[in-house]
Amino acid sequence: MVQCAFLDSFDFSKETSIYIHVPFCLSKCAYCAFYSLSGCRQTEMDAYTDRLVNEILEVNRHMDGRPYCTAFIGGGNPGCLGQERLSRIADAVCENGRPAEFSTEMNPESLNGEFFPLFESHFTRLSMGVQSLDPKALEFLGRNSDLASTLRGLELSQKLHVRYGTDLSYDLITCLGSWHDELSDVRKIVNEYPSDHLSVYALTLEENTPLYRRNPVLPDADGQYSILNGIWDYLESLGFEHYEVSNFARPGKRCAHNCRYWAYEQYIGLGPAAASTAFGKDGKVTRHVFRPSVKDYVDGYARGELFSGLESEALTDREAAEEQILMGLRYKGGLDLKRLSERTHKVIDSRIIAAIEGFEARDGFLVPDDSGLMTADAAASLIVDEL
Ligand code: SF4
Repeated sequence: MVQCAFLDSFDFSKETSIYIHVPFCLSKCAYCAFYSLSGCRQTEMDAYTDRLVNEILEVNRHMDGRPYCTAFIGGGNPGCLGQERLSRIADAVCENGRPAEFSTEMNPESLNGEFFPLFESHFTRLSMGVQSLDPKALEFLGRNSDLASTLRGLELSQKLHVRYGTDLSYDLITCLGSWHDELSDVRKIVNEYPSDHLSVYALTLEENTPLYRRNPVLPDADGQYSILNGIWDYLESLGFEHYEVSNFARPGKRCAHNCRYWAYEQYIGLGPAAASTAFGKDGKVTRHVFRPSVKDYVDGYARGELFSGLESEALTDREAAEEQILMGLRYKGGLDLKRLSERTHKVIDSRIIAAIEGFEARDGFLVPDDSGLMTADAAASLIVDEL
């Protein structure tokens, strides 16, 4: 077994999730600041897959025969890899057994029949970046996918659900400008393409993106709030639970993988730009991030390296506590107060807890209601001040 500081920082006797970052896209969307390369060169994708599979297999050895509790292949657009490479990665992830939840992202224009067998045998969940069914919005966002290919991808995703019971999640972007009718866009998707889960994001202008340079007029904070509120009310009226700031689920269909992030549980991230949170046997938390460079990743592998090109930071107990608070208060699973006091050796005064509006102490957790989801950062500051 390979031993290195990265792997040694994890306590693999704990439940562990795995995140795989696929840094390839057909082309770059105008608003996107995630690390991914467009153009998809075959040789780079082969070398990337070779290294990734070897790293996954190595981590599997440390898992002592146990499967990952959840797995998520994100990006980028994993569909760019094609069926063969994605199968190799999925096989490696499932070597010790199929995770209880195994999600892959895939853009509508990339989904095709050749991926279907993977949803029968490996993936349990598809997260599709739909963003909009308004052709003008797709063009404004600079998406690869026009309306026809978006609809075709959605139809195929529905077949996956019927055939294999695949859980479906669709990503939507709102708050594009006064010209866009957000609610009717969301209504169309929800009514015509049923799903178990929706992620609804307000568009933000990220520096160094083409959309940022175009400097479009977007709704101000109040305008955003009212658009989002309208969408949230609509989704809740249909029986979706608003369980995280941007996420909605049918009963029992929360994304277990993302819930583990918010619950501040251990996960290992592999691939350029992927982050990990390692919980050591000594209780210490280490954050690792692979450098966002496909070139470094494949060059390192050509030199025989695995798990190289990482930037690692050991968090102080206070930093870890602050992260746990920020994450826990933004979803309906809530902040685990017992775990927090074990980490900080402090018990937060119950009068402080009771006075935080929009939150309720329940079974040892501080849980937001719908209004609390909107004030999670302010609530986090109040608790951090008590540490
Ligand atoms: S497909 Fe996703 S990751 Fe790729 S450029 Fe578009 S938004 Fe970014």
